Amino acid sequence: MFVKKIDKQEFQQDLLTWYDENKRDLPWRRERDPYKIWVSEIMLQQTKVDTVIPYFQRFMSLFPTVYDLAEADEETVLKAWEGLGYYSRARNLHQAVKEVKESYGGIVPKTETEVGNLKGVGPYTAGAILSIAYNIPAPAVDGNVMRVLSRIYANYDDIAKASTRKTFETVVREIISKERPSEFNQALMELGAMVCSPKNPACLLCPVQTHCSAKEEGVQDVLPIKAKKKAPTKRKMKAVIIRDQENNVLIERRPDTGLLAKLWQFPNIETDELNAIHSYIQTLGLDVELTRKVQEVKHVFSHIVWEIDVYEADVKSVENEELYDEQSKCHFISIEDINWYPFPVSHQKIIDGALIKKEE
Ligand code: SF4
Repeated sequence: MFVKKIDKQEFQQDLLTWYDENKRDLPWRRERDPYKIWVSEIMLQQTKVDTVIPYFQRFMSLFPTVYDLAEADEETVLKAWEGLGYYSRARNLHQAVKEVKESYGGIVPKTETEVGNLKGVGPYTAGAILSIAYNIPAPAVDGNVMRVLSRIYANYDDIAKASTRKTFETVVREIISKERPSEFNQALMELGAMVCSPKNPACLLCPVQTHCSAKEEGVQDVLPIKAKKKAPTKRKMKAVIIRDQENNVLIERRPDTGLLAKLWQFPNIETDELNAIHSYIQTLGLDVELTRKVQEVKHVFSHIVWEIDVYEADVKSVENEELYDEQSKCHFISIEDINWYPFPVSHQKIIDGALIKKEE
């Protein structure tokens, strides 16, 4: 499988010299605070660097230390995460930071087992924290790094398989610089992001091209091998912006577990039938008149696609007094207060596209 051996010393030197001269100035790289590295790595999962930067800076101004985040209430944390998506990342981070406060005196642990046992911290994030913050030679193998290594070793294993990641972790343990593990891992990630890109890698500018089997064999565009994921399943949804006579709008909180748990949304169900959403609204304790369809929203998750038809409705009568109790899981709020509540991205699209626009 790994037929060719690379010259470890030369490879490290070529990679690190290039990194020292070319690394980007990213806010989480300015210091080696393990908490900041951890937050940045969680934010960077499935999200681009440019998108993460403003979120990271805002998050750090709200929760500058483990203690600030551990002591924050969950709704404030979710609100700060709003727009980044994949909210389970924020919930797990919040839980794990509480554990660091309670079990480790607020100091992010330094062993692979301890840090790897924190909620939401997988092998990649554990390796990134240990190596980048604590300069421990642990592998941090993500998709970028697997792409680079698949090419350098001309390896045809499917990078979607866990066993392939494990193989590359073993490789990194072997080739990582023991003097500068922090920079070595960051340099591999940076190479994947800046030079060894998924399409059209810039081999002629690559600092490790002389070590690269894929370039030598002309197969850099074929690698890495990644089995295709199943196409996401389509789900038809209907959501309603319900206004009362004072122009308040009705919002509901999603269940405590499952997809987008505890976030707020406009009344919303999975259905292709208009009657079904009307009946659902009645179960909330009010009678409405659906007026018109105002928007179509599409939101793609990794495994499903929501296609939401958005309607407006006027209240005819309210039978449930709890709909005016702000402690209730479903209640009216004034439009000015909507920014206090964390919404999933799909329903932010409704706020921006159908609710706010109409108010302007
Ligand atoms: Fe990637 Fe090309 Fe560099 Fe090989 S030579 S590591 S394929 S950019």
